[in-house]
Amino acid sequence: MIGRNSSLSCRRGGLLIGAIGIVLSVTLIGYRDAGLEALGDLAQSGDASISTVRIDADYPGGNIIVERIRGDRVFLRPDLRDTKGWWFYWNFRVRGAAGRTMTFQFTDRNPIGVRGPAVSTDGGATWSWLGRDSVRDASFVYAFPDHVGEVRFAFTVPYLQRDLRRFLDRYRSSPHLAVRRLCRSRKRRSVERIHVGSIDREPKHRIVLTARHHACESMASFALEGFLESVLAEDELGRWYQQNVEVLAIPFVDKDGVEDGDQGKNRRPHDHNRDYGGKSIYPSVIAIKKFVPAWSQGKLKVWIDLHCPWIRGGMNEMIYQVGLANTDCWREQQAFGRILEAVRRGPLVYANDLPFGKSWNTQANYGNQMSSTMWAAKLDGIQLVTTIELPYANVGGQPVTPASARQFGRDLAKALRRYLEGR
Ligand SMILES: [Zn+2]
Repeated sequence: MIGRNSSLSCRRGGLLIGAIGIVLSVTLIGYRDAGLEALGDLAQSGDASISTVRIDADYPGGNIIVERIRGDRVFLRPDLRDTKGWWFYWNFRVRGAAGRTMTFQFTDRNPIGVRGPAVSTDGGATWSWLGRDSVRDASFVYAFPDHVGEVRFAFTVPYLQRDLRRFLDRYRSSPHLAVRRLCRSRKRRSVERIHVGSIDREPKHRIVLTARHHACESMASFALEGFLESVLAEDELGRWYQQNVEVLAIPFVDKDGVEDGDQGKNRRPHDHNRDYGGKSIYPSVIAIKKFVPAWSQGKLKVWIDLHCPWIRGGMNEMIYQVGLANTDCWREQQAFGRILEAVRRGPLVYANDLPFGKSWNTQANYGNQMSSTMWAAKLDGIQLVTTIELPYANVGGQPVTPASARQFGRDLAKALRRYLEGR
């Protein structure tokens, strides 16, 4: 999501579960505004027959505030942290609930997506959509299997550092892949720049792919994987890239936000995708602005910034490009869009664009700030600059999953080849 400001202010209070692991009895009630104090001593039921349910978000990508638990009903909400207004990312685990059926009730606005929560019973390695039938308004019900250890629930399928590591390990010996450090984040994490394709010779073209300017927009990362997979593949498409194009991918522009489980979107004082004008404040954006023009050598032709939109409804359940104000840029976006429509083989259909000046995509939304694509559009020799919004859960009736998002990434790679060959 690159636009949209909500006017709701961030409310504090409740039981913050995150940096500390907390054990809660299922009979525990109340404790709003308990804040960050050590809470372990609140966890007691005095009834040995009632099993202990533990809820926490103390792992990469974790995010939840548990307000109270009454019987088998848990009251909770997303942890907004430094977000301006409301947003909807959350990701927590439940342990000690085997055999029980529990209801998870969100207390503020409804942050459950259109296919219900994503669920993992293997510690976050694989996920599936729980489905609409489990959802009622802002709550969902889950029957924990007997003998299950932990179950994770999240707004969408997370994609974290460990997922990227697993992906890159598959290509460790590839001569078409080089992983370098772009910079260190504010919290001293390494922010990768990944070079794939034609990296052992002078390429004909260079392209940039960025993701996670907004930390929570994880489905975009699966599309990025699908694109990189296509470039690294030992097939006709892969060989074409390996001979002609050097791809620079920045998979986690907001690395700290991704790992810490932040919303990232509308972060105060401004988020990573509003940091490109003037004096930037985030190390990764500063590094991108310095590195890319020097690396380009006049061969940078394409910049694609991958995002996910708002939670539900209308265009938020369609793949679309966000139109730039510059009419030359907009013409190229439309040309690329027509190619993408034509080459598409995956189940997720792209068929829309959001022109500049429509819906949230207005100058008022950006104010005097600059997004990554606005900045990239000014680079020498660049032809196509675009933002692509990939929904979190649903595209025209088709489920968005890691597999279908990767297929969309492959469609993007095919379309970009045709675009570059046509120019
Ligand atoms: Zn976004």
